[in-house]
Amino acid sequence: MSSFSNIQLAPVLARAVAEMGYESMTPIQAQAIPVVLTGQDVMGAAQTGTGKTAAFSLPLLQRILKHENSSTSPARHPVRALVLLPTRELADQVAQQVKLYAKYSQIRSAVVFGGMDMKPQTLELKRGVEVLVATPGRLLDHIEAKNVVLNQVEYVVLDEADRMLDIGFLPDLQRILSFLPKQRTTLLFSATFSPEIKRLASTYLQNPVTIEVARPNETASTVKQHFYSVVDDDKRRALKQLILKNGITQAFVFVNSKLGCARLARSLERDGLKTSALHGDKSQDERLKALEAFKSGEVDLLICTDVAARGLDIKDVPAVFNFDVPYNAEDYVHRIGRTGRAGASGLAISFVSATDSKNLADIEKMIKTKVELETIEFNDGFSSRPRESIGDSRGYRDSAEGRPRGGSSRENFERSHSSSSAPAWGQRSYERKAVPVDPFFDKPYEPSPAQEEQLPSWESTAKTTSRSISANIKPKRKVAALFKTEIVSPS
Ligand code: AMP
Repeated sequence: MSSFSNIQLAPVLARAVAEMGYESMTPIQAQAIPVVLTGQDVMGAAQTGTGKTAAFSLPLLQRILKHENSSTSPARHPVRALVLLPTRELADQVAQQVKLYAKYSQIRSAVVFGGMDMKPQTLELKRGVEVLVATPGRLLDHIEAKNVVLNQVEYVVLDEADRMLDIGFLPDLQRILSFLPKQRTTLLFSATFSPEIKRLASTYLQNPVTIEVARPNETASTVKQHFYSVVDDDKRRALKQLILKNGITQAFVFVNSKLGCARLARSLERDGLKTSALHGDKSQDERLKALEAFKSGEVDLLICTDVAARGLDIKDVPAVFNFDVPYNAEDYVHRIGRTGRAGASGLAISFVSATDSKNLADIEKMIKTKVELETIEFNDGFSSRPRESIGDSRGYRDSAEGRPRGGSSRENFERSHSSSSAPAWGQRSYERKAVPVDPFFDKPYEPSPAQEEQLPSWESTAKTTSRSISANIKPKRKVAALFKTEIVSPS
């Protein structure tokens, strides 16, 4: 393990790093920092969670420290380093980290992204900042409004470049790069080196040093992965049961669609779980609030879509659930990378339904492991069954969530399920609805009322026997929670 003392950071930066509690450099830091310090271009393959923000921010700050000054004149604080990211959340997180690393210096930093009022951003830009973190669209707005000039930029970082291209930011990037001085250092980070990324690099980078750490198909060995055969209608019940069984205190729950995300969050809230949804239709303010609430422990379950969750700087999430198997095997790796970080043990649980066989096969190929499908014995005596067998008429749900209908189920999945049992929760009779719309989910998302602080909601609801809505999640036995709290079974 390399120590930060090997790279002779300026005292103001070393102090900030020490305060962050970093003991040694991560592999990407050990490789990238010395290179960036020499001013060479870098093409880095590293996922979020590897410490890549510090890998580029620290040397970049070190190089521009020579410009630090206490003048109040905006002219003395031109943008020297520009960091571009695909999403608002990522931009916000990187900006927060940069601020922490620069806190003992006089280097100013700011972040601009869409979905927020331009005015406060404009004021900050006009005061002058040395490090600007931005999403491409909003940065162009500010350039066009002449709120910022980029002719003194010495460093540009294209972070999560593959995602920026996926989102269609290439024209914006090309425009932004055309405003920058030719003489500069360019750092490009991407999870993969696709042909498009290589093309981007060959156009804008000069003799880059290539640095590769964790390949995107590598999953941390500290993450225990489980795959359960669960029919769509049983997934919610399975989620609650596995949370209790494993004593999980906080988790990310991934779903494949925005509608599914809102739907699940609403439904879990009705069950008394402290839940927030994070998806593309949420306002920026709502998303940041959801993130903060999760970080502070006010929220126990963050229900997210892939785009909304990409790169969230939340460490040590005890568990990740794939409520839906992702369509893209790489997303599986990204999702479960949220847990088991930095050597901590993590749990990744995926619910596999009858239509997931192709996606599951892709995941097996990606993680180079044959997946063992497990079945769940529900506490109430029913195991999960294929949807067809329980007379579910709500087939509209799949198509409404943009999921492919039909498809062949895995053979062992079919065999492992009883087809004779009645629906497990509530023994409801299923009647075909004339119109495939659930008006409940047309209502705007509302957060649940404030609940008992500190304890995960499934623990507090387990203690609150009067909450009949949480009856489904009462534990049958004592379950030790990860964070030294204990669920007490109602007597
Ligand atoms: P990143 O990949 O940059 O998003 O970083 C993921 C997380 O790792 C952030 O919360 C950082 O604060 C943290 N981190 C970065 N470098 C180190 C380090 N050398 N030691 C411990 N944690 C780190």
